Amino acid sequence: MSVVNAMEMIVRDLFGDFQGSYQLKCDCEQCKRDIFALTLNRLQPRYVSSKNGEVHIKTMYMDQQLQLDVIRELTKAKEIVERNPKHQFPSSRTL
Ligand SMILES: [Zn+2]
Repeated sequence: MSVVNAMEMIVRDLFGDFQGSYQLKCDCEQCKRDIFALTLNRLQPRYVSSKNGEVHIKTMYMDQQLQLDVIRELTKAKEIVERNPKHQFPSSRTL
């Protein structure tokens, strides 16, 4: 049995747009993964079976309110991660 979290796909997609609009203080993989994970943790997962998943995901993409919720959580997660980055290497951009 395999299910997909449709929310994860939506967040992944909107995160791409988000990075284009709001410059991340640090765009290393660790920070991006943290923002992605934090955002997903705060949103209700929407598991779909692959059989009817595609239709369901398309419907979600057209849901303006859902998109606003995702962007709002991305913004919060970005602030949290930028305040307390977990990346190991010293980065001049985090000063
Ligand atoms: Zn970083």
